[in-house]
Amino acid sequence: MLGIETSCDETAASIVVRDSAGKAVIRSNVVRSQLDEHAAFGGVVPELAARAHVTYLDHIIAQACREAGLALGDVDAIAATAGPGLIGGVLVGLTTAKALAAALGKPLIAVNHLEAHALTARLTDGVQFPYLMLLVSGGHSQFVLVRGVGNYERWGTTIDDALGEAFDKVAKLLTLGHPGGPAVEAIAKSGDPKRFKFPRPLLREARLDFSFSGLKTAVRLQAEALAPLSDQDVADIAACFQAAVAEVVSVRAGQALARFKAELPEHTPQLVVAGGVAANRTIAAALDKACTAAGATLIVPPIALCTDNGAMVAWAGAERFALGATDHLDFTARPRWPLDLPDMKVVPDAA
Ligand code: ATP
Ligand code: MG
Ligand code: FE
Repeated sequence: MLGIETSCDETAASIVVRDSAGKAVIRSNVVRSQLDEHAAFGGVVPELAARAHVTYLDHIIAQACREAGLALGDVDAIAATAGPGLIGGVLVGLTTAKALAAALGKPLIAVNHLEAHALTARLTDGVQFPYLMLLVSGGHSQFVLVRGVGNYERWGTTIDDALGEAFDKVAKLLTLGHPGGPAVEAIAKSGDPKRFKFPRPLLREARLDFSFSGLKTAVRLQAEALAPLSDQDVADIAACFQAAVAEVVSVRAGQALARFKAELPEHTPQLVVAGGVAANRTIAAALDKACTAAGATLIVPPIALCTDNGAMVAWAGAERFALGATDHLDFTARPRWPLDLPDMKVVPDAA
């Protein structure tokens, strides 16, 4: 399976195969991040992203084939992210996949980017259904119950900013550069996580949703009150912000696992983390604690497969293809595409 990912600022292609024992193997996974293109703007510029995908995607696909030791014609099918994401980029990847599928006479699999994140842990860790996924990335923060391929229930989401986005905005505010997550985490190491008491938004409510914009505002007001900021001030603010989000995420994870145990009492609770924020050690440690307390297993795939990549798209394509799902060449790219729409189902519910 060839997998193509272009929904944000990574141009990526990968080839995933099954070995003779039926085990999935990543034969190549080429990711070109566009950090340089967007650095000067402090965030991803959609038009620049789309243009960069146009420039590089052919080369990335060729490289993925070369590294896999395969020709394009050797693949069984072609999978590409068809949404959700920045529409210009999605169109580049999906149209390329359609052209390849038409030229090679191979099936097309239109992959939901969120489904690709959701199924990655089955590729990396062989996780069995059902499990709870916490996706925390630059564009999403949500709990999804993964019952099977194409069978998802969203249990909670952010009502404003995504968690990665909150890290990026706080980093911008503290002039730490982009992407902000790694920078905030690095500087927080020398900070005092108890100096300021930032809010834990929505934490007193029972729902499994997130909200990070009020926290971001509290961080901004604190920074303004202290300006000009010393290096220690910056480190302390970063540490307190990180402590706040780690607490919010882990308390919510505990609540989500409690719901899992109540609704699926016959299954061992499993929590799978996906998205770039999974790289954060403080958050991962807090999640680890929450899982231990709930008697749940925590699965964190290798970070290169938590962030956007082609292997997760190839794998999601392979999972769908194995169940007989392919898509027509007129499949329309979708800037928004929630995971729990009925049309995600590979096998529709009996009427
Ligand atoms: P999406 O996949 O939702 O479309 P995306 O491509 O921006 O969005 P990813 O590539 O999965 O998401 O992750 C990038 C995000 O992860 C950025 O917001 C970045 O700041 C954040 N991030 C990366 N490393 C860390 C870290 N160590 N701590 C916190 N956040 C991090
Ligand atoms: Mg990204
Ligand atoms: Fe993503």
